[in-house]
Amino acid sequence: MAVLPIITGAETPVLRSKTVPVPKVTKEIRKLIKDMYETVHAAEGGGLAAPQIGITHRLCLAAINGRIIPLINPEILVKSNATDTMQEGCLSLPGLWIDVPRAKEIHLTYKDENGKRQERKLTGWDARVVQHEVDHLDGVLIVDYQLGEKRG
Ligand code: ZN
Repeated sequence: MAVLPIITGAETPVLRSKTVPVPKVTKEIRKLIKDMYETVHAAEGGGLAAPQIGITHRLCLAAINGRIIPLINPEILVKSNATDTMQEGCLSLPGLWIDVPRAKEIHLTYKDENGKRQERKLTGWDARVVQHEVDHLDGVLIVDYQLGEKRG
């Protein structure tokens, strides 16, 4: 396993690219997940998306119920209209804290490490972390909320 360098900068192209779905959960993908797991622990983060280590797969790790798990090809199917606003930081934007409005509740689908499709409803901080990481997979960073509008 390896701790990977985290890519930073609000205008860095790989952090602004839309990612490509993972076609199959291979040995290489599982190895990548292990490296990302090491990396997010070393950085003491609550999540990490593949673009943050320079990889354009639709893959991220996120803390759910206090445990960091991989989300492969995650899609948020439903977001509640109700939102709340809290400060967020980002491992790719060190030292920056921004108020970000997020849906309070989401309905998420993804594949787990075994390639099995999972579905779950998340609320509160879990929902927030996942929305942050899925934003990364769409090339969106928290600075976009500071400008008052989200980039597509
Ligand atoms: Zn981030």
